[in-house]
This record gives sequence, structure tokens and C-alpha cells, in this order.
Amino acid sequence: MGRRGRNTRHHNARAGSSESTGAGRRGRNTRQHNARAGGRWLRITVATASAGLILPGLALAAPASAAPAGAGAGAGAWHCSAGAHTLAPPGSHLYPDTGNGGYTSLHTLVHLVYNAPTNQFLPGNGVTLTDRATQCLTSFSLDFERKSKNTKDGPDMTVRSVTVNGRPASFTFVQPTYPGDPHGQNDPNPAAHEASQTNPVGGPHHNPLPPACSPELPSTKVPPDSLDGTQCPANKLVVTPSVPVRSGSQFTVTVSYTGRPGVHNDGDGTTEGWFRAPDGGFVTTEPVGSEDWMPLNDFPAAKPTYNFSDTVTAGHTVIANGVLLSTKRNPASAEFPGGSVTWNWFSRAPIASYLVENSVGKYHLTERTADNGTQYYEAQDAGIGAAQRAKNRAIMNMQQNITEFESQFNGTFPFTSDGVVVGTPNASFEEEMQTMITFAGGRIDTDTLYHENMHQWWGDNVTEDDYNLTFFKEGLATLAQFLHQARLAEDANGGPYSAKGQAAFQASLVKSFNQSYAAGGPFWTVAPSDPKPVGLFSGSSTYVRPGIGYIALRQILGHTNFTQALQQLQRTYGGSDVTEPELEAVFQQWLPVPTSACHTRLREFFTQWWDTAYRPGGGKHRPKITGPGLAGPGFYNPHGGCS
Ligand SMILES: [Zn+2]
Repeated sequence: MGRRGRNTRHHNARAGSSESTGAGRRGRNTRQHNARAGGRWLRITVATASAGLILPGLALAAPASAAPAGAGAGAGAWHCSAGAHTLAPPGSHLYPDTGNGGYTSLHTLVHLVYNAPTNQFLPGNGVTLTDRATQCLTSFSLDFERKSKNTKDGPDMTVRSVTVNGRPASFTFVQPTYPGDPHGQNDPNPAAHEASQTNPVGGPHHNPLPPACSPELPSTKVPPDSLDGTQCPANKLVVTPSVPVRSGSQFTVTVSYTGRPGVHNDGDGTTEGWFRAPDGGFVTTEPVGSEDWMPLNDFPAAKPTYNFSDTVTAGHTVIANGVLLSTKRNPASAEFPGGSVTWNWFSRAPIASYLVENSVGKYHLTERTADNGTQYYEAQDAGIGAAQRAKNRAIMNMQQNITEFESQFNGTFPFTSDGVVVGTPNASFEEEMQTMITFAGGRIDTDTLYHENMHQWWGDNVTEDDYNLTFFKEGLATLAQFLHQARLAEDANGGPYSAKGQAAFQASLVKSFNQSYAAGGPFWTVAPSDPKPVGLFSGSSTYVRPGIGYIALRQILGHTNFTQALQQLQRTYGGSDVTEPELEAVFQQWLPVPTSACHTRLREFFTQWWDTAYRPGGGKHRPKITGPGLAGPGFYNPHGGCS
């Protein structure tokens, strides 16, 4: 995610001197060969689909027959119990209310029936989640914020029915309990269900327990701790099937619901979710707003594949993840007197909870297949003026080139499609929705496109295992902005094939590092791996500090080894998630001086850059290990070792 107007990015502060650092060659020689654009842009229009539409992936959603059978399927016979109502570890104070245990999310069919002019989900609207039980389940939960204190822009939805494997199931909404509560997830103590920015809750009653949820601040103007100690809303949808679900079995859950989707008020007072647009909705949801338009397992490491089969008011376009399979006109009906249209999108790649895209509106949508087969989509709200649309289009047309530039560092682009949707609501941030990046406020800018497109590898394909690892992917996306600036310097100095251009590229990165490394004030005061909800998407700890930390890491490992490490991470963890120890282990493998002293020093580097909160002011109070050619003490001793 990149927030606008919050001073989260650093490159604007660039200035001054260039400095030669003896940069080695980078392995970047294929770029200009690949930069040819293939194919022509095709306007997407709604055609009458042929009969017998095939939705790939739907086979997964077929009901499984593996529920415990027979009269002996009671809890005792199978050691069945309720699934955990969270995936957060004990003590977590970053969205500890989200995620659900006892099963793995495999596939989701989104089946919206949506009246775009009135912004309402109609009867027939729902989702079908295909999961695999990891224990015998008497009940399990989903995340769904169907009502909000934000009565203007928040959701107002009603669950009509829930079925499990096609059979009616009972359901209820409960509050979250703090993760690890020894009294269980329905702890009768009200203090076990309180919101806070921090652990312990504190608040006016000095609650010593960890928080059960992150606060939903009404605006950015209220004090961040103003909701600490208040009761968490009942956003856990607990489903009890008619018979327990056997451990290891695949099962389907269908939730039918109607009403108005909306936005989630976040721990920093901004909103995310389903933003009302003049002709529908604009969906951009990090970190937890997906549950404000659909029930799901709302946790980054929960990554099902997706089919979207949305029926919406005629004349409206659905923008979702993956590839567009088909569109189909439907005749007038009671719900849609003017007719409707069904859009089918499919993502074979799994998608993290906060990256599911499903905007509906009057979008101009075009599609183009590049010469390497990647499909590029461009969508813009028809309400954007023609001149601005043309400006936006010029930047959107750079996406293939940016993808090829970033591929030199990250390896092959991980998806079969990529795209951008520009909506009109002022969402205050842009987001790396998987294969369909959202830009809000009717405009797009090049530097943020480098940032969000970098996320397709980092965050999207390789996802953080929990919210406190957000810095890992935001740091790499910020690195993409530093690389963009370096590329501009390179182009201004003879281009990538000239020694002067290459030196300018390296000098630009060194300058980016040195400028931010000199920062004082509160720059170093939050450990990147331990932020509060209020600062998660605005602080230097999430963006610039890890961003320049990667520049230092690139100097320590060497440019080729750094790229090799990134590509190994993609190969090993692509389509899944990664933990902080796993990340560090891969970078350790590419340390060019593999002595125990150097491994120890690299461990200390990670501790300083990722896990340490310093006193304000910088100077002595900042990471002391940097990299060769950078400001600060560097990494190796004069003999090239670490002792
Ligand atoms: Zn970002």
C-alpha cells in the first residue's frame, strides 16, 4: 500500500551530490529486448456468451462428501471441537481479531448480485468458501463486519442463511477474545473482549489483558488510544454445521447475505473496504476491509484461489482479480428491470485476504496480451474527464515496461495477468490488489505504480505471515521507488549499457540510503516488526527504514547475490507466505563471506534494522551496521571479514 499525503515516501527529499562507489555490473541486459509491447488494446464489451460456460476452479467448489457420517459422528467419537476464532499469536496487538483456525482456505466463489445504482446486494448474493479441516470441527468461524458504528459509509448487511456441504447450518455473531485466552474464546469476562492499540489493553480501567481487536477509530483526528478499553464489535461469524466436519476433509460453506457493503474504520482512523462510487463501488481493502463486503478468513496468510461470478445492473462493469473469462447479458427480471450482466473472472493464483478486488461501476476496460503472453488490463471510471483519462492511460501503458524492469531483480512475473483500475472515490491510499492495482481519486502516478507493481512479487505472491511483517513487503515496494529514481538517473547519464549510466544508478541508491540514514527525530523509534495499528501504514518504520535497509543488504550481499536471494524467496514461498526467520535464512544463504562471524553480524544487522526501537534523535540511536560504500560503519572489516 502507498498512502498519499502522509510523507511515507522518501524520494522527494532527494538532493545534491553524486558519488562514485565502484558499482559492479548488474545483470540487466535483457531489458530492452523485452520492452516491446505486444498486441493491441481491445475494448472489453459485453457479449452474449455461448451456452455451456466453463468456470475453471469451480470443480474445487463441489461439495465434499467427507463429513462424519452416521449416528456415531458426535463430538466424542471424533475428538471434535470448535475452531479457533483467530490466527493471531498470543499477545498480538495488530488485528488480533482476524483469521480463523481449524481449517485451511482453498477456494472462494464470489457470487455477487448487486444493484449498482442503489449500492445493494440483492437476494441470491453470497459466497461459497471451500476449505479443508485441519481438525474435527464442531463449529468454525469467519470474519464479517456486517454492521458498523459508521452508519454513513460503513456496511449494513444481513446474513440470510448459511449452509455447510449443502446442509443448513446455524450461525451467530460473537465478539473476538484475545488470542491465547486460557478461559477460551467465549470467556465470560468482558475485559477479554476489549480493543487496544497496545498490549496490554490499558485504557481507563487499566485492563492488564492483551487486546481482542484493534480499535476502529472514527477519524484521523481523534487520539489513537481513544478507543482503548472499549468492547470489540461482534464480527466473528460462528457457523455450527448439522454434523461435525471431519479432520482432513474438504468442505464448502455458502453464506447468503444482502444489504449494503461499506468501509471499515481502521486503527489509524482512515477507512478501507467497499467505497461508494457514483455508479457502484470501488474496492480497496488493506489491511482488513474485505470483511466489510464479504465473509472470509480475513488473514494475510489465508490465500484461497478465486472465481468471481457477479451479476450486476446492465451497463456496469465488474473489475476483479485474475483474468476475465466471459460476460453474459441477462434479460429483465424483478430485481433488474433494465436487465443485468454477469461477469466471470478467475484467479488460478491464490490471493491474500486484503488483495481481493471486486469493483463495480461504469469503467472503461481494455485488455492487451503482451508478446510473452501476460494479459494487461486497464480500467478507468467513466466519470474521470477525458484529459485526465488520457494522462492516466499514458502512465498505465508503462506497466509492462515497469514489470520487466522489476523482473530483473525479482525474477519472472508470478501471474498470468496484471492491471490497474483507477476509481474516483478519495480512498487516501493506493493498493497492490493482486493483478489489478487500485488507484483512488481519479489519477495515477508513475512512482506509485513502481511501488504497487513491485508488490505483485512482495505481499501478493510472497505474502507476510502476519500483519507485523508488513514492513517486509512495504520495504521492498519502497526499494522499487528508489530503483525507479536510480533508473531515471541512469537514463539521464547514458542508459543501462553505459558505464556512466550504471555508475549513476548506483550513486542514486547510495544517495537515497545516506539521506535517510541521517534522519533524526522519531525516524528510528518504532521497530519495523512491532508497529501499532495507528502507524502501520504511515510510519518510517514500515516504509523508508526497511527500504534503505534493503539497499544496505544489497551492498552487503553484493548485487548479484541480493537478486539471487530475492528470486530464491519467490521460488520457495511464491503462492504462500513467509515468516521473518525464513526471510533472514534465505538472505544468510547468499552471504558472500560465509564465516560464522559474518553470519552472526548479519543476524545482528537484521535485529538492528527490523526489530529494534531506538531513542529519538538518530546519531547513536540508529542501526550501527550498514553496508560497503554507504554512510555508517559498514559491514566488513578492512580484510573483508567480520571478526
Ligand atoms: Zn505498499
